[in-house]
Amino acid sequence: CGIVGYVGGQCALDVVLAGLRRLEYRGYDSAGVAVLADGGLASAKKAGKLANLEKELSDRPLPSGPTGIGHTRWATHGGPTDTNAHPHLDNAGRVAVVHNGIIENFAELRAELAERGHGLESETDTEVVAHLLAESFSSCGDLAESMRQVCRRLEGAFTLVAVHADEPDVVVGARRNSPLVVGVGDGEAFLASDVAAFIAHTREAIELGQDQVVEARRDGVTVTDFDGAPADVRAYHVDWDA
Ligand code: GLU
Repeated sequence: CGIVGYVGGQCALDVVLAGLRRLEYRGYDSAGVAVLADGGLASAKKAGKLANLEKELSDRPLPSGPTGIGHTRWATHGGPTDTNAHPHLDNAGRVAVVHNGIIENFAELRAELAERGHGLESETDTEVVAHLLAESFSSCGDLAESMRQVCRRLEGAFTLVAVHADEPDVVVGARRNSPLVVGVGDGEAFLASDVAAFIAHTREAIELGQDQVVEARRDGVTVTDFDGAPADVRAYHVDWDA
């Protein structure tokens, strides 16, 4: 339901949690976060209110790092449980993805992944994306390119935001039939389903067009279509209070 991604000089977890709080008004049934730190990926997710996730994070703190993603879920496939909450990870725990929307052809992709030996643990349509990204990444070594390859295989509506432990300074996003905005700050970048998540930090925004992928780094963002061709972007200044 709500998505936030961050890369920059601040503590990613703090920025992501504050962003999720700004998106709470949309309603949700579960919440989760993932951060990249010390060469690895750490995540936490809980059914229920953000307060449940915050309690989990105070009981079992995540390491502090500059790159992270977060999600508030409104369940469509699989009940509102801890396991079904996002982020979803691949089996090696190197990639994490959050998703708004519905992957219509998930059953077919799930069967294909099971045949190739992947163990999927949730009932969501989303989890296939984590496994497909991990497979693509292991052959191309580039998360944005992996996202393009995976998006070409997906049907339905999606805002996706992902991180990979082997590319610790990058957050990647993609969209089709579901919104994704990019906030461009000074030495930092934000991806979100709504500008409300980041206007406390920057008001320079880019609205991602249909079927586009964004690679966000501290020093800027690159937007392409699903085939990798550079995309026209609509940059604007948010001059209202969200
Ligand atoms: N279809 C996904 C799920 O049920 C995402 C739902 C959402 O947009 O929050 O997990």
